[in-house]
Amino acid sequence: MAALKACSALVTGANRGLGLEMVKQLLEARCSNIFAACRDPDGPNSEALRELAKKHPGVVTLVQLDVADPCIIKESAKKVGSLLGKNGLNLLVNNAAVLPQKTMLTATAEDMQNTFNTNVIGPLFVIREYLPYLRTAAKASGKPGMSCDKAAVINISTDAASMTIMPVLKEPFPLFPYSISKAGLNMLTIYTARDLKADEILCISIHPGWVRTDMGGDEAPIDTRESVEGVFRVIGSLTEKQHGGFLDYTGKTMPW
Ligand code: NDP
Repeated sequence: MAALKACSALVTGANRGLGLEMVKQLLEARCSNIFAACRDPDGPNSEALRELAKKHPGVVTLVQLDVADPCIIKESAKKVGSLLGKNGLNLLVNNAAVLPQKTMLTATAEDMQNTFNTNVIGPLFVIREYLPYLRTAAKASGKPGMSCDKAAVINISTDAASMTIMPVLKEPFPLFPYSISKAGLNMLTIYTARDLKADEILCISIHPGWVRTDMGGDEAPIDTRESVEGVFRVIGSLTEKQHGGFLDYTGKTMPW
């Protein structure tokens, strides 16, 4: 599989878990313009990210971005736009998400609304506000077809979004608001893929595996390194053939 070669990338929820590992591996992949977006860049949960930015000035730029707030998304896009060159933004990773541990019988209206704001409406507005820079990248690339080196939106989804997998899952994980929101994110992938096809901006959903993070817990079988290596290997080899698809971190097609 091909390696990821994007020159510029923005990752949401970049301060911990999979998002932080993505920033580290983008550095290893020699991505020269990495926008590491998180909701509290000065807070205690962002210390490791601040250290990375300090070590790589001019390459890693911290961006304040609460994806549940459309006004902040707009402001962040203005800031990033002013820093991006004429080659635009190659890669946008919608990674930030929340998982309130609630079931169909315990989820409150607030749980449902907060989860949708972060996991569905957030990615929608992030895509819309950053679209001009993705379009610039697609035009500037001069390459035919679609790829993550050119212009792409990667939505980090989950097997828990699958309407095929969830009904037969034996373990009663309390994933109700999360599953429904990520199924919504998958539909956002379908719409984005359809509506951005003419711009040659690639869009897929990807399941990163069950990973040891604050969200995945200690029981998960893989670590962030293995997950992100897989995700980057898969997205580095994408073409228009996978546009609008749902894959996992090993490259396997996921059932919707
Ligand atoms: P973590 O809980 O470890 O990290 C979640 C990240 O999202 C944090 O950086 C958090 O920031 C950020 N975030 C939450 N709400 C917002 C918001 N409103 N605005 C901006 N950032 C926000 O999760 P993971 O790293 O495990 O998950 C990353 C992605 O992978 C998610 O989309 C998740 O659904 C998906 N995934 C994970 C799996 C796993 O096993 N870990 C399995 C399948 C999918 P803060 O520090 O400010 O809270």
